[in-house]
Amino acid sequence: MQTDADCIFCKIVAGQISSAKVLEDDSCLGFMDIGPLAEGHVLLIPKGHYETLDQMPAEEVVAMTRHLPSLVKAVQSALGCEGVNVLQNNGRVANQFVPHVHFHVIPRNQGDQFGFNWPAGEYPPGRADELAESIRRTIG
Ligand code: AMP
Ligand code: ZN
Repeated sequence: MQTDADCIFCKIVAGQISSAKVLEDDSCLGFMDIGPLAEGHVLLIPKGHYETLDQMPAEEVVAMTRHLPSLVKAVQSALGCEGVNVLQNNGRVANQFVPHVHFHVIPRNQGDQFGFNWPAGEYPPGRADELAESIRRTIG
């Protein structure tokens, strides 16, 4: 398993930095976010060090994300929240501060302080198909 000696989440995996653990298996770890956007904010990470999701082997993503339904359900019933956001940031421009893949599981309630700037746009005719074709070609 690849690790990075300077990575804060690798140190949590290795037990060199303590964390309040929620779930653990061979491939991943879930623990409380130390700077919660809401009470009950949990992080789910792979034990292997990968900076961004696109760098992960698909099997390792599957091994980690298979826990998301039960984790979301557990957070929802433990906190009694009305909803949950699952977020995963890739790259500094996308608000990723810790360069080790992580999924945020964030409890949401009506009127809470967390929100998105969601500037939904509009495509001119044909543009969405053009982009879809370009992405399809890249996936291969
Ligand atoms: P991101 O902006 O997506 O990179 O989020 C990184 C998250 O890691 C933030 O929500 C931090 O509060 C959280 N975090 C940083 N250090 C620790 C730590 N030692 N234990 C738990 N969570 C942490
Ligand atoms: Zn790491």
